[in-house]
Amino acid sequence: MKNVAIIGSTGSIGTQTLEIARANKDINICALSCGSNIELIEKQAREFKPRLVGIWDEKAAKSLRISLADLDITVVSGMEGLIEIAEYADSDILVTAIVGMIGIKPTIAAIKAGKDIALANKETLVTAGHIIMPLAKKMGVRILPVDSEHSAIFQALQGNTHGDIAKILLTASGGPFRGKDREYLRNVRLADALKHPNWSMGRKITIDSATMVNKGLEVIEAKWLFDVNPSDIQVVVQPQSIIHSMVEYKDGSVIAQLGTPDMKLPIQYALFYPERRFLEGDRIDFWKLNQITLEEPDMDTFKGLNYAYEAISKGGSMPTVFNAANEKAVSMFLQEKIHFLDIYDIIRECMDNHKVTDNPDIDTILETEKMVYEYIESRW
Ligand code: NDP
Repeated sequence: MKNVAIIGSTGSIGTQTLEIARANKDINICALSCGSNIELIEKQAREFKPRLVGIWDEKAAKSLRISLADLDITVVSGMEGLIEIAEYADSDILVTAIVGMIGIKPTIAAIKAGKDIALANKETLVTAGHIIMPLAKKMGVRILPVDSEHSAIFQALQGNTHGDIAKILLTASGGPFRGKDREYLRNVRLADALKHPNWSMGRKITIDSATMVNKGLEVIEAKWLFDVNPSDIQVVVQPQSIIHSMVEYKDGSVIAQLGTPDMKLPIQYALFYPERRFLEGDRIDFWKLNQITLEEPDMDTFKGLNYAYEAISKGGSMPTVFNAANEKAVSMFLQEKIHFLDIYDIIRECMDNHKVTDNPDIDTILETEKMVYEYIESRW
C-alpha cells in the first residue's frame, strides 16, 4: 500500500492525482488539503476517507468539521495544518499540488519528516532550491518531478550517468500567443490568455505559460532538480506538446520522452517510480501524427524566459523576486486590474529595484516575497 498525502487536492494536479488513486487500489489517500473549496474537499474526504483534511481558512475549517462529523477525520487549518499534513506520520509521499510559494514550508517539513516528495509546486524549488535539494539529500528522500518536462528529463536520465550529460533540451508549447508580437500582446484579454492550446491546467500556470514565465520557472527548477548549469539548459519550442523534453549526452545522443499531453502520466510515474504502470488514455498514433515541429523561442517578445535566466544567474534572493513579482502580477491580471504586458514590466521593475541577498534562508525568502508584494501594491 502506498500512503499518499496531497496539499492542493482540489486543483488541477490534485484532482488528477486522485484520479490515479481511483484507478490504483493500492494507493491509500491519508491526508488532503485545499485553500477554500469546501464543497469539493468534503466530497473528496467522503470518497477517500483520509484521516486528516486541511483547509486554509479557520472559519471554513469550523464548518468542515461540522459537515464531516460523521467520519473519523481530523480537520486542520492554516500553515500549521499544512505542515501537519506534510509531516503526517502514516504517509509515504507528499504530492505538492499547491500553487505558489506557500508550498515552501510544508515541503521542507515533509522532507525533514523523511517523506518522499512528488513535486508539482515549482515555485518552491525556484525560490528555495538551494535549501531543499541539499536537505533532501541529507534526509535520503527523493524529489520526484511531476512537471511534465522535468518528468521527461528524469525519464531520459534513467540508466545514464550525470557526468555524461551535455545539455538539457526543455520543450515549451509556446502557449496561446506563440508567433505573436508585442503589438498584438498589448490588447490581449484574460479569456484569450487562459486558452492554452494543449494543456488544461490551473489558472496561474496557464497565464505563466502565455507569458513564458512558466518556462523560465522550469529552467530554474531544472537547474536544481538535475544539478546542471542554466547555460546548459536550452529551451526548444515544440508546439504540439508531444516531445516533453530531451537530454543530450556527450556522445551526441539525444534521449527524449514522448507522449500525448496528459499530466496523469508524470503524476503516476512520480507516485510509483521506478515502476511503470498501465495508464488509461490516448496513445501517440505515429501514422496520424504527421508532424512534430521545433522552433527557437522568441525571448524578445516573451521576456519571461529572459528574466528567469537573468534571475538565476544573479542568484541568491533574485529568483524569489522574479517569482514573487510574477505571482502578484498574475494575480492582478487574473482580477483584470492590469494588462498582459504589465506582467513583464512589474517583474522588470521589481528585479531592477532589488539588492541580492546571497544564500537566503527561508525567513529571508518569505520576507523578500512580502517586500515585493508591498512594493507592487504601492506602485500599481
Ligand atoms: P490549481 O490552481 O488548479 O490548484 C491549486 C491548489 O492549491 C488548489 O487545490 C487550491 O485550493 C490549493 N491552494 C491554494 N491556496 C492554498 C492555501 N492557502 N492553502 C492550501 N491550499 C491552497 O493549480 P495547478 O494544479 O494548476 O498547479 C499546482 C502547482 O503545480 C503549481 O505550482 C503549478 O505551477 C504546478 N504545475 C501544474 C501543472 C498543471 O498541469 N496544472 C503542470 C506542472 C506543474 P482551492 O481549490 O481551494 O483554491
